[in-house]
Amino acid sequence: MELKISDRLGALPPYLFADLRRKIADARAKGVNVITLGIGDPDTPTPDPVVRELIRAIDDRKDQNRHRYGCDVPAEAFPVAARNFYKRRWDVDLQDDQLVCTMGSKDAIVKLCLGVLNPGDVGIAPQPGYPTYNIAHVFAGASTYYVPLRASNDFLMDFDEIPTDVRRHAKILWLNYPNNPTTAIATVDFFARAVEFGRANDILIMHDSAYSENTYDGYSAPSILQVPGAADTAVEFFSLSKAFSMTGWRVGFLAGNASAVNALKLVKNNVDNGTLRAVQLAAAKALDLAGEIIPPVNEIYRRRRDMVCDALEKAGWPVRKPKATIYVWAPVPEKYEGSSGAFAEDLLNTAGVVVTPGLGYGAAGEGFYRISLTYPDDVLAEALGRIVETAKK
Ligand SMILES: *Cc1c(COP(=O)(O)O)cnc(C)c1O
Repeated sequence: MELKISDRLGALPPYLFADLRRKIADARAKGVNVITLGIGDPDTPTPDPVVRELIRAIDDRKDQNRHRYGCDVPAEAFPVAARNFYKRRWDVDLQDDQLVCTMGSKDAIVKLCLGVLNPGDVGIAPQPGYPTYNIAHVFAGASTYYVPLRASNDFLMDFDEIPTDVRRHAKILWLNYPNNPTTAIATVDFFARAVEFGRANDILIMHDSAYSENTYDGYSAPSILQVPGAADTAVEFFSLSKAFSMTGWRVGFLAGNASAVNALKLVKNNVDNGTLRAVQLAAAKALDLAGEIIPPVNEIYRRRRDMVCDALEKAGWPVRKPKATIYVWAPVPEKYEGSSGAFAEDLLNTAGVVVTPGLGYGAAGEGFYRISLTYPDDVLAEALGRIVETAKK
């Protein structure tokens, strides 16, 4: 039988980079040695102490519960480590009911939306932005109101741009700083404005904090939960994926507003039954050792960031060095007249290098492109050499 996908699945926007993927396949078929700088998935391995803790925990025959459902028999060390991390890192005290372990943020973003949105509800999301926010809305039968992030406002969301009727109907609002794809950073003052907006309009602020630890040049990213009283109206998604090189492990946590945390717990109890205890224990170890683990990895990204920005400068396409994230977000060179698609296509055809066109993140992303720093130095160097050559032509 020919299975027909559900209307829900059919309602998702087409995969944004499907077109680019086909063009890459065409170039490869023509014999071009294509280098992709498109995907944000760390190449550096998960740090040894974390891997060793996983092996120890899964092989710990004294632990009668090591095979059990992670939500029924949680690993006590995980919430302790998460709370200690927030205390050390931001001087934020999380209560027991303000924290739940997740299978990474992407999963939790969708599940929390299923737990809080009804069909017809509205969620507010940034554009350009991480596509999962809108996908989560669609899965919940809700819709998305996009607020453009503008270079002229340092890619911070301008709450004044949100019309009154949208404020009245929206139930949640997404923020993500340090930001993917724009690499923008926010201050605690900005988060305070967001919390105030949430409180005034009865909107839950969902802060996706996937890159809070990927920072450079002495910059330290704030947490929205540093704002006094933030947990009344905000939650924060913390993920171990990017900073600890643990994307495949699927682990993170949601912190903040207790009723939102509870909604996510309810969905999880009915859908996934929690994260394997050994993974929770290894994640706890990672959080405990963050101060040792993260700086050397960030030093690798900083070096690559400098390589990329210096090469783009040399190509005559200058870009400001980002203080955070694992990306460079750069304006499309002048001769392409702001078309990120035309630039990406020309770069693929003439240099065999793939970058992500900003248009893929929605119309507000047009005029920019994204390079990911998650590729080995020699791959990056080869790609950058080709880009500089192309620029001369
Ligand atoms: C990578 C990424 C995530 C997903 O992280 P996981 O915890 O691996 O699911 C979430 N948000 C943004 C903005 C990301 O770039």
